[in-house]
Amino acid sequence: MCTLAEAPIVTPSTPSLATRTGMAILLADTLAGAAGALVAALGEAGLPGCRVAWEGPDGALHAHPASVPGDLPSLRGDAAAAPGHARLLCDAPGAAAWLLPAPGASLPEPTPAQQQLLELGARRFRDLFAFKHLSGSVQALAQAEKLQRALFAIADLAGSDRDMTTMLRGLHEIIGQLMYAENLFIALYEPGNDSLRFLYFADTVDKEEPQPGEEMPLSALDRGLTWYLVNDCKPLMGSMEAMRRQVSGPLVLHGAEAHDWLGVPMVRDGRAAGVLVVQSYVEGIEYTESDRAVLAFVAEHVLTAVERKQGQARLEQHVAERTRQLAEANAELQQQMARGERARHLQATLYRIAALTHDEQTSEDFYRHVHEAVAELLNAENFYIALVAEGGERLDFPYHVDAVNPSVGSRSFGRGVTEYVIRQGQPVLLDRAAMDALAARGEIEFGSPQQGYGQPSLYWLGVPLRGAGGVIGAVAMQSYRSDVSYDEGDASLLTFVSNQIANSLQRREHAEALRRLNVELEQRVQERTRELREQIAVREQVEARLQHEVMHDPLTGLPNRLYLRDRLERALASQRRNPGQQFALMYLDVDRFKVFNDSLGHLAGDEVLREVARRLQACVREPDVVARLSGDEFAVLLEHSPLPQTACKVAARIQKALQAPMQVGGRELQASASIGIALGNAHHANTDAVLHDADVALYRAKAAGRQRFVLFDESLHRNAMDVLDLEHQLRAALANGEFEPHFQPIVGLADGAVAGYEALVRWRHPARGLLGPGEFLPVAEECGLLEAIDWQLYRADFRDAAPLLGKDGYLTINVSPRHFLDETFDQRLLALAAGAGFNPRQLRVEVTEGTLLGEPEAVARTLGRLREAGVDAALDDFGTGYSSLSHIHRFPLRMIKIDRSFVAPLGGEVADRSTAIVSAILALANSLALEVVAEGVENEAQRQALLAMGCTQAQGYLFGRPQPAAHWAGRG
Ligand code: C2E
Ligand code: CA
Ligand code: CA
Repeated sequence: MCTLAEAPIVTPSTPSLATRTGMAILLADTLAGAAGALVAALGEAGLPGCRVAWEGPDGALHAHPASVPGDLPSLRGDAAAAPGHARLLCDAPGAAAWLLPAPGASLPEPTPAQQQLLELGARRFRDLFAFKHLSGSVQALAQAEKLQRALFAIADLAGSDRDMTTMLRGLHEIIGQLMYAENLFIALYEPGNDSLRFLYFADTVDKEEPQPGEEMPLSALDRGLTWYLVNDCKPLMGSMEAMRRQVSGPLVLHGAEAHDWLGVPMVRDGRAAGVLVVQSYVEGIEYTESDRAVLAFVAEHVLTAVERKQGQARLEQHVAERTRQLAEANAELQQQMARGERARHLQATLYRIAALTHDEQTSEDFYRHVHEAVAELLNAENFYIALVAEGGERLDFPYHVDAVNPSVGSRSFGRGVTEYVIRQGQPVLLDRAAMDALAARGEIEFGSPQQGYGQPSLYWLGVPLRGAGGVIGAVAMQSYRSDVSYDEGDASLLTFVSNQIANSLQRREHAEALRRLNVELEQRVQERTRELREQIAVREQVEARLQHEVMHDPLTGLPNRLYLRDRLERALASQRRNPGQQFALMYLDVDRFKVFNDSLGHLAGDEVLREVARRLQACVREPDVVARLSGDEFAVLLEHSPLPQTACKVAARIQKALQAPMQVGGRELQASASIGIALGNAHHANTDAVLHDADVALYRAKAAGRQRFVLFDESLHRNAMDVLDLEHQLRAALANGEFEPHFQPIVGLADGAVAGYEALVRWRHPARGLLGPGEFLPVAEECGLLEAIDWQLYRADFRDAAPLLGKDGYLTINVSPRHFLDETFDQRLLALAAGAGFNPRQLRVEVTEGTLLGEPEAVARTLGRLREAGVDAALDDFGTGYSSLSHIHRFPLRMIKIDRSFVAPLGGEVADRSTAIVSAILALANSLALEVVAEGVENEAQRQALLAMGCTQAQGYLFGRPQPAAHWAGRG
């Protein structure tokens, strides 16, 4: 501006008078300067006291010399109306200048010089006005540009991501570039609660500045400048005085009083949304209209910026809020997930513990795995399992892991915390104080390490182990650290664990029991199998033996009847196929075997049979068969023996072989056999037929006298038929009562006086006359009729004998061995005697040695009972059986009858042996106080010999043959 002002203005004409003053006018570089130069020049040119007034582009009216406001006349339009009053010098767009007369004078018509000066002045004013106008425009443009830049900066600030405070500080700076703004505040009006919120406050004087964001009720600033700004929604500017005039009511000052003040409302929709205030406490710094306009303009943008920033902040806040909410939700979700994860882990662990119980592993491994699983869920650094043992006497610790206390395998059941849990049967959660309290009550004791107790812990959790029959132990955890304690949740978890352990223990027990059972079973099965195998082996042996036995005779080892039949059948079959193939069957009966047997005993008899068997076998050769059929019966099957002579030769050989003496029971015996021979032929329909023929031949051989062999022929067949016939006849004889007793007297040897009679059976055969026992008793015995015949005879004996006996005589009856098989024999006999009126004391039963030895006990019993009833016993045929003299005393005997075979040689030439035997018998009998009867005394020599030996009684043809009772009747 200075440059412009100093620019030389060249005028075309320069009058001399006016040249100097005119030059001054033209050189004036301000309106005031130009006015002063014109006034001075006019004064020099004869027009003094004039004033110049002008109105600039800013609209204000100035004058020179200066005058008080209001003393200037109204100039526009008036100058023309009153030409003496004022003269228009120049009228430019937006600007004019007037020449005013001196006060109280009027303007004269100017002189040409004056006119020249006036034109110069007008010209200068026009130039200066133009210059002013131009420089104003430049200034405005600069201002506008400055404003423009400020607005850009504001927009930039508002758009930046700086925070509100930083932005406001930035705004402050920007405003400070536009005007004096050392003291500035920005506040927003909140119509909702009628309050002001101070966003920004900078003040060099007022130190009681509100804090940013502080909210203040508008009433607190009642009728203050800010209050009016908001309520009037109009800018206020100037000194307090000036503003007092601007406000719509009385003004009340709040805070420090400023020298100059400029406030603009920040308008939104015609209402004040806030205020922007700058103030000056410094004299000389005042605000201008331009400042007001700028500030009002800026305020609008500040509001926008603030609102934008606030919006942004709100958005950010909202975003932050949303973010926070999301974060919270996320955290919650995370927590849920974590809880879920924990729950899943817990469940998985519990499942694992539960699954452990089914694992096949050692108890130690099982406990360890359980502990590991528990340790995943709880602090189980110190963990143990206790089991009640020895019927409650002890406490075992099969598992014990402890950081402080060493493991004890076992201790006696005492009063520790573990025992307490077991006694309580419930989970127990203890801290040190609770333990001390329990100890004070005597519920628990702190035992010594020697007793198997550990150092007490700070926290202790134990739960009982429940078995099927109650508490069997406990599971416990303990802590020696103050930062590790347990709660109810831990207790229920440990309870779960304890249940699993108890399950496992029980399962293990069952499994163990099952295993033991299996082992036992296995053992038993093996034992049983072995036993069975043994039994099978035994059975197989037995079967083999049985098989053998079935086909063989156990005594001699010879094939038996079954075997023989089999072979016979084959022989028959082969003969049928080939009629030239002859075979012979021999039946063999050992003569007098019964005597061997009865007198020497069964053992000796058996020995005889075995010896016979051996000799028979020695007489034949393969394929001939020697078989034992029964008792003393043998058979020999001769195969391939075409001629009867061959069979007879073999029979003779056999007889010869048997004749050789044999040693049996320390005695020398001589055996012989009767042999019947049948030759197999076409007539034999079957084996039975062959066997029958041989049997018949044997019978004949026996009947013909011992030691013979008979070859079967048809005549034999007839005799065989006789045997069968005889059986029929015996039955008939029984029915017809054809048997009758004969009596033979037993006499005193010295005088022949009759002491008693022996009853002997006779058969009065209707066709064959009187038959002796030898003719029918063997057949009767064979066909089981003997006993029946005896009973019939006994009845007749009692009847017939009674008259013969007198009061002292006795009757002897012969009793065959088979009678003693019947235990009721004695009763029956006595009943029969009683029935016949026969005195039992006059009855004696004759039994043979064989009878005595056959069933010794039964015979002795029966004889004992008979003796009690008065019936005595006599031993018949003594000597034939080689009875040991020593054992006859066991039987209740009254009398011994010496067999006639010993009597016969007496009195003869070679009687030595018999004499010795009879003497011995007599001596024995004497020592046993037995009566002795010599049988078969036929001549006087025998009588004398017997008498000489001291024998007193005898029986024999010498004294009388057996005769019917009638024969003896009346003979005394
Ligand atoms: P025994 O009991 O030894 O009977 C004596 C036998 O010797 C009788 O033969 C008799 O007649 C015979 N006798 C008697 N004195 C002499 C003599 O001086 N010289 C000879 N050589 N013989 C004499 P008997 O009657 O033929 O009886 C034979 C056997 O029959 C008896 O032998 C007896 O064992 C048995 N017996 C006879 N009667 C019966 C009876 O009623 N029941 C039973 N179970 N058996 C009887
Ligand atoms: Ca007799
Ligand atoms: Ca006799």
